[in-house]
Amino acid sequence: MIGGIAANNASGMCCGVSDNSYKTVESMKIVFADGAFLDTGDEESKRAFRNSHSELLNEIEKLAKETKNNEVLAERIRHKFKMKNTTGYSLNAFVDYSDPFDIINHIMIGSEGTLGFIAEITYRTVEDLPNKASALMIFPTIEDASNAVTILKNQDVSAVELIDRAGLRSAEDEKGMPLYLKDLSDTATAILVETRADNPETLNKNIDHILEAIKDITPEIPIEFTDKPSEYAVYWKIRKGLYPSVGAVRKLGTTVIIEDVAFPVSRLAEATLDLQALFKKHDYTEAVIFGHALDGNLHFVFTQNFDEQDQVNRYERFINDLVNLVVEKYDGALKAEHGTGRNMAPFVQKEWGKAVYVMMQKIKKIFDPNNLLNPGVIINDDKQAHLKNLKPLPVANELIDKCI
Ligand SMILES: Cc1cc2nc3c(=O)[nH]c(=O)nc-3n(C[C@H](O)[C@H](O)[C@H](O)COP(=O)(O)OP(=O)(O)OC[C@H]3O[C@@H](n4cnc5c(N)ncnc54)[C@H](O)[C@@H]3O)c2cc1C
Repeated sequence: MIGGIAANNASGMCCGVSDNSYKTVESMKIVFADGAFLDTGDEESKRAFRNSHSELLNEIEKLAKETKNNEVLAERIRHKFKMKNTTGYSLNAFVDYSDPFDIINHIMIGSEGTLGFIAEITYRTVEDLPNKASALMIFPTIEDASNAVTILKNQDVSAVELIDRAGLRSAEDEKGMPLYLKDLSDTATAILVETRADNPETLNKNIDHILEAIKDITPEIPIEFTDKPSEYAVYWKIRKGLYPSVGAVRKLGTTVIIEDVAFPVSRLAEATLDLQALFKKHDYTEAVIFGHALDGNLHFVFTQNFDEQDQVNRYERFINDLVNLVVEKYDGALKAEHGTGRNMAPFVQKEWGKAVYVMMQKIKKIFDPNNLLNPGVIINDDKQAHLKNLKPLPVANELIDKCI
């Protein structure tokens, strides 16, 4: 799934904004809308492209100069990309780089197939340290868990995943789950923490430092790290199974929706509570929240019926409230790592403002003047696009109905 990972700047649990596709891409082979081919890792290919597509390269250089010269805009872009953000195009390419081939390499990341087809990609790999330990830390409230996340940001941790009470509940009946899951308080919140090291001694030191750092926050269950793969696999099974868990218990005929927003980490507790309140307001009782807490990146999963108009109306009201919450209250990202897609395309301008949206429209035009590639994805002037062409999931057959 490397094509989608590059095209969405998908990042997941461990890489944050430091080791994602944008940061680790070295070069790629691209097929453009007009059929032209470019290998950004090959000097001969770049020379040929310079000859055949000088106008495209000039326009990119011009846009990069304009962006850098506009200090307010450049600063806004830098600020937004300190957080995970895949709403619209990876505009940081225009402030981080000047060479048009470097810009192409990086603007393609997160472009969701709207600027060209990535036929091959070369990444700089990162080290996967061999010694790992994880702890499922259960705190009595989301505030306690979020305070722990803030402290852990300065510790040697490779992942900190938040799971809300509803998420824990959805996993409690699975085989091999810790028995205490069933007895947690109603406000309990978990963070699943992983630390890695290149030898066992450093791993133990990391664990000691982590426990010392958070010792003033009282957990609901005593905290224990384990370096046994069979034990920590159970914790990670809870986290990785959240999406299918909700899918498994969904009402027949409903679709599982997963969303992907980011908030400033310092306001994670408040934002999670606001999200939970939104679910309550719109009666999404089965919704669960989990996510990459170190990056303020929350996913939430809920089920939605698209067969009936009043259900679609409810969905519209919910999405409108969500967009206002993320953009207006938190200046967050409507999409952190899953790409804009058609669902958030109507709201790109709302998050970035008119001037930046115009810049994104310009980028699309430079690469794909006839709007051939994935039209309506990322750039979509229809403010109702997220409510059209919805795909109902009618009851079909016991075997198929389980599919999410
Ligand atoms: C259950 C589930 C869990 C997920 N968990 C995570 C997660 O934890 N973290 C995370 O970041 N993401 C996650 N994702 C989203 C993730 O980005 C995608 O699943 C994955 O990257 C899709 O890869 P794909 O090749 O199947 O792309 P597709 O789904 O086929 O395509 C995704 C987009 O990329 C474009 N695209 C695909 N290939 C190319 C190409 N070669 N050139 C140009 N454009 C291309 C498509 O046009 C489309 O717009 C999850 C998805 C699912 C379904």
